[in-house]
Amino acid sequence: MQQHTDSRWRDSALCRETDPEIFYPEVGQTPHAAKRVCAACPVRAACLTEALDQRDVTFGVRGGMTPNERRELARAQDAITRCERRWAA
Ligand code: SF4
Repeated sequence: MQQHTDSRWRDSALCRETDPEIFYPEVGQTPHAAKRVCAACPVRAACLTEALDQRDVTFGVRGGMTPNERRELARAQDAITRCERRWAA
């Protein structure tokens, strides 16, 4: 993944106008409220890219994905990168 040094996208983050608690659901609560906000967020792609770049797969909903979902996506990206390197060699 490409590292993003420009974080101006954060100025347009929809979660800035939302209760941050919904992005950190307690055990037994669903992440649906946060996912609904993310689905309408204009900077979702940048947010998710940054979360994956930072390997932030531990806490909270970011880019519309839970930590488990981001972990799965990061693993898939790593597998693709390994294949690309193998084919390029
Ligand atoms: S996609 Fe990222 S920036 Fe947008 S609302 Fe969700 S957590 Fe916030």
